[in-house]
Amino acid sequence: WSSNIKPDRGVNVEVILRCRPLNDDEKQLKLPVVISCNEGKGEVSVVQNTAYKQIDKTFSFDKVFGPTSQQKELFDEAISPIVNEVLEGYNCTIFAYGQTGTGKTYTMEGGRVGEVESGEFPSEVGIIPRAVQQILDVLEARNEEYSMKVTFLELYNEDIMDLLAPDESLNGPDDKSRKPIALMEDGRGGVFIRGLEQEVVCTADGIYKILEKGSAKRHTADSLLNKQSSRSHTIFSITIHVKESSSNGEELMKCGKLNLVDLAGSENVVRSGAKEGRVREAGEINKSLLTLGRVINALVEHSGHVPYRDSKLTRLLRDSLGGNTKTCIIATVSPSIHSLEETLNTLDYAHRAK
Ligand code: ADP
Ligand code: MG
Repeated sequence: WSSNIKPDRGVNVEVILRCRPLNDDEKQLKLPVVISCNEGKGEVSVVQNTAYKQIDKTFSFDKVFGPTSQQKELFDEAISPIVNEVLEGYNCTIFAYGQTGTGKTYTMEGGRVGEVESGEFPSEVGIIPRAVQQILDVLEARNEEYSMKVTFLELYNEDIMDLLAPDESLNGPDDKSRKPIALMEDGRGGVFIRGLEQEVVCTADGIYKILEKGSAKRHTADSLLNKQSSRSHTIFSITIHVKESSSNGEELMKCGKLNLVDLAGSENVVRSGAKEGRVREAGEINKSLLTLGRVINALVEHSGHVPYRDSKLTRLLRDSLGGNTKTCIIATVSPSIHSLEETLNTLDYAHRAK
């Protein structure tokens, strides 16, 4: 990848917990809140006290963002340092993991917004546009030659779809842009995707069009395939190349890559059958989500074998997971009693990744 040698910093996994506010429906139903966040201590407590069930559990994380936390706050405190690592030439991956409806897409992309005014983002803007802006700001200030390219793909049932493929909707739902594309081995232990569309980004505004294009494509598929989006993963990758001159006048190319992964709803992950005796049907198994958990556990526990090859998601992210890279998992939960079981599953999964 990069021609200059970087110090090996080993495996680096950070786990962040974000709890969304109650939504209007939950407020109207006056559903009890069962989650309390202690941001200062980095702890989340789950408390339920009824005649039937008593739960009182506390989980700790590297950082905790409660229901009133703002997009800017999460970005500045947790993501901005990672973007700086990418600018230094490291490969980093940020995952959003959690039950459908808990704020994964809100955190990654953010609410749909209008124009960016006077350099400040509207408060709803999520990680992706903010990361692009930070990269542009830093590279512009450095006065070095650089390029930034992005790709946006969706993984559904182990099939890869290019969300930036040119629109050929005139040909109906069978058009080429919705056909899965192949993942190829590059013969050096890595992978590549032939024909994946790359867009050059020069302004942060441009990123909205790219996100919209991708989301529109995802949306079409939603109506075709019964809520596909809760069962699919999207990977938005930003690759930067910077030309640097060293002290002896030699030119070096520095590369860094940031993957922003909006994972399938965690309710799709298979549980060990023992939990309340419920065995999930085979169709619900999401191989990539399951394998990601195993890969992260293997990395965190320094076990010799890391099962990257067991899923497309982990094969795709191999150059940015483990080894000399940084990984951040943002686990998202709902505060409502309705989601209690899934919330406990998410907290458990995320806590194990630490
Ligand atoms: P997911 O992608 O996990 O299925 P979404 O990101 O679509 O969930 O969020 C579900 C709804 O909740 C959306 O309407 C979103 O705007 C809202 N939401 C999620 N997180 C927050 C938050 N932290 N603050 C305000 N609204 C949020
Ligand atoms: Mg979503």
